[in-house]
Amino acid sequence: MILKEECIFCKIVNKNIPVDIVKETDNFIVIKDINPVSQVHLLIISKRHYDSVLDAGGEGEWNGGNEIFRLLCALAEEFKVKDKGFRTVINTGSDGGQTVNHLHVHFMAGRWFGWPPG
Ligand code: 5GP
Ligand code: ZN
Repeated sequence: MILKEECIFCKIVNKNIPVDIVKETDNFIVIKDINPVSQVHLLIISKRHYDSVLDAGGEGEWNGGNEIFRLLCALAEEFKVKDKGFRTVINTGSDGGQTVNHLHVHFMAGRWFGWPPG
């Protein structure tokens, strides 16, 4: 499945909902989270619809992992947080706290993040 009709992130990727694109690559768009938990809170959203990591990470499936790592480095540079660092999160399923069932990675920076997470 490439796009899912009722999916909010598919609508964003498809530009059916107006949104500021921070960055765009072959497989991802980066946007600001609508409900930020830190000064910098971005979402790296797969252009192709996958319900979660479990959907995208299967054998023979798409391989966007390297692109995600390159994007994290580029965002750290652009947002000038290489020295201080940042938090990267992929929530998966109900115990993981996933609320939007379309593969995305959180990039959060600009404050200290505790461990373990809540
Ligand atoms: P999850 O809990 O699934 O890992 O995270 C979903 C994230 O998407 C949440 O942080 C939420 O604030 C964000 N979000 C949900 N709907 C929208 C939207 O329409 N636009 C943007 N920019 N972010 C959204
Ligand atoms: Zn989707």
